[in-house]
Amino acid sequence: MSWQGKILRVDLTAKSIRIDPLNMTWAHEFLGSRGLAGKYLYDEMNPKIEALSPENVLIFASGPLTGTMASTGGRYTVVTKGALTNSFACSNSGGYFGAEFKFAGYDMIIIKGKAPNPVYLIINNEVAEILDAQNFIWGKSVWETEEKIKERHRDPLIRVASIGEAGENLVRYACIINDRDRAAGRSGVGAVMGSKLLKAIAVRGSKGVIPNKPAEFLEAVNLSREKLDTHPSRKRLMTSGTMPMMDNTNAYGSLPTHNCRDVQFSEIEKVNVEAMKATRKSDGRANLISNKACFGCSIACGRVSKIDPNHFSMQIPLKKRLYGGAIGGLEYESGFSLAPMVGINDIEAATYANMLCNVHGMDPISFGVTVAAAMELYETKAIDDTITGGIKLKFGNSKALCQLAELTGLGKGFGIEIGLGAKRLCEKYGHPEFAMVVKGQEFPGYDVRAMQGMALAYATSSRGACHMRASPFADDFVYIRPHGKAKIVKTTQDKNAAIDSTGCCAFAGNAWDLEDYAAQIHGACDGIWDAQRLMTVGERIFNLERMFNLNAGIDSSEDTLPNRMLKEVAKSGAGRGRVAELDKMLPEYYQIRGWKRDGTISISTKKRLNLI
Ligand code: SF4
Repeated sequence: MSWQGKILRVDLTAKSIRIDPLNMTWAHEFLGSRGLAGKYLYDEMNPKIEALSPENVLIFASGPLTGTMASTGGRYTVVTKGALTNSFACSNSGGYFGAEFKFAGYDMIIIKGKAPNPVYLIINNEVAEILDAQNFIWGKSVWETEEKIKERHRDPLIRVASIGEAGENLVRYACIINDRDRAAGRSGVGAVMGSKLLKAIAVRGSKGVIPNKPAEFLEAVNLSREKLDTHPSRKRLMTSGTMPMMDNTNAYGSLPTHNCRDVQFSEIEKVNVEAMKATRKSDGRANLISNKACFGCSIACGRVSKIDPNHFSMQIPLKKRLYGGAIGGLEYESGFSLAPMVGINDIEAATYANMLCNVHGMDPISFGVTVAAAMELYETKAIDDTITGGIKLKFGNSKALCQLAELTGLGKGFGIEIGLGAKRLCEKYGHPEFAMVVKGQEFPGYDVRAMQGMALAYATSSRGACHMRASPFADDFVYIRPHGKAKIVKTTQDKNAAIDSTGCCAFAGNAWDLEDYAAQIHGACDGIWDAQRLMTVGERIFNLERMFNLNAGIDSSEDTLPNRMLKEVAKSGAGRGRVAELDKMLPEYYQIRGWKRDGTISISTKKRLNLI
């Protein structure tokens, strides 16, 4: 079986560690990663507790395909109650850490309690220890933490997932970073880790991952790999990553710009994929220097960049020394949030701010969108220089963006306020309408007035505004009408929940149908798996997350969008003159889901999905 059948349980309060068997009935019902960890969270935690309390549970979970030969099979998920949203949080990451903890023999690491002093966890197959981090890595950046752990344990191949200073300082959107720049990025899972005084998990494993039906597994892997490797999306992702989306949304009129006051950016050519690839006059090189892959991935969409050595961000010699080499580059989500959303036309500044997000461990989407909200507060004079510490927070001020990335990560000055996230910041200064959030989580890179399916997806996502929970893109880029979106959103939410639980990457889904994921799961796991079974698993997962949120007190009143989306029309593009027509989609969506009119889940739906 491609589950390892074991969970590592860590109680930081009691300083105890034990190994438990995996609940195989649940594994067959919730698969792994997002789904299975969600089931454990639902079962083991009071959903009403505050996210930053020691009672919160933090789960690292692999999927059955994690660490196997399946292409893109290096994914893991962190599941907890989110510090940003106080709702169900699940944040997916790539790199090599997920496969390594699977190789150590575990499907999940479940962490409870709070350490009395800063600690880190080290795992070497069956041997796991809680070690003191206080005078070692506490207070260090993610990059320093990884290096110091490798050095102390004399193992350059040890894999580390850690928080930076942002997680220690409880920045509400702090993330967990592994392999320098792969992030479990959204919803503030890093702040939860920081609240437990857990700085890092370092892991080394030498066990294999054994598929249940080896011949069938290999055949499915080979067929899927061939399909993936010959699909045009692979070449696009390999050469340009996700950045081409910047031109698509700009042309269509769904590019969040100037805190969503605009939907198109007049200086797009300075921050798009062509700008990344263009030869710079200053040093004769391009911002983008290479691509890179996560464990076992034959797509390799990761960006590797080098900041212009003559850029203002590199003018302090120490910074040039620390950050002047190859670094993780912009992808679309960090690109939109650190450029058009804040009105910035400087791709080197956006790259630098993105790097600081990785170094200090915070989500660049939430950071950029929060800065955009602060810029609107500043330009409308709701805040001034006395509050910003003299920073001129006008849209387009790239020096202010870079300065705030550092201050926020380090928990200094006005950065402490930016660390609150857009919702808390805008409420504090009397303008909640400037916060582009759903359930407290900042928008990703789609203005939803021209993308009605995405409007519904944001509103109904269990973790707040999210572009990964549903995939209405193909329909949204053709049809603006709200009709028919409910079914597309429901179906793709269930499908994506299943894919997130396999251990493979969602980007493989450009080439793979659910049948391709199912064939590989069928070969890897015991039992009979097909696409229909995966869809049922996905629907079960989505409903369980809804149940968690309802039990936490998050009801249908939060299935909504900021007033700017509902009442202010888009100024240009395909959605010109339109708002998000949520009221036309939500009732049909609830009905298709088998939920009641008030957004709660009917008994018959729970019974059908074996959730009671
Ligand atoms: S497609 Fe990109 S994000 Fe997904 S596993 Fe491959 S390199 Fe990682």
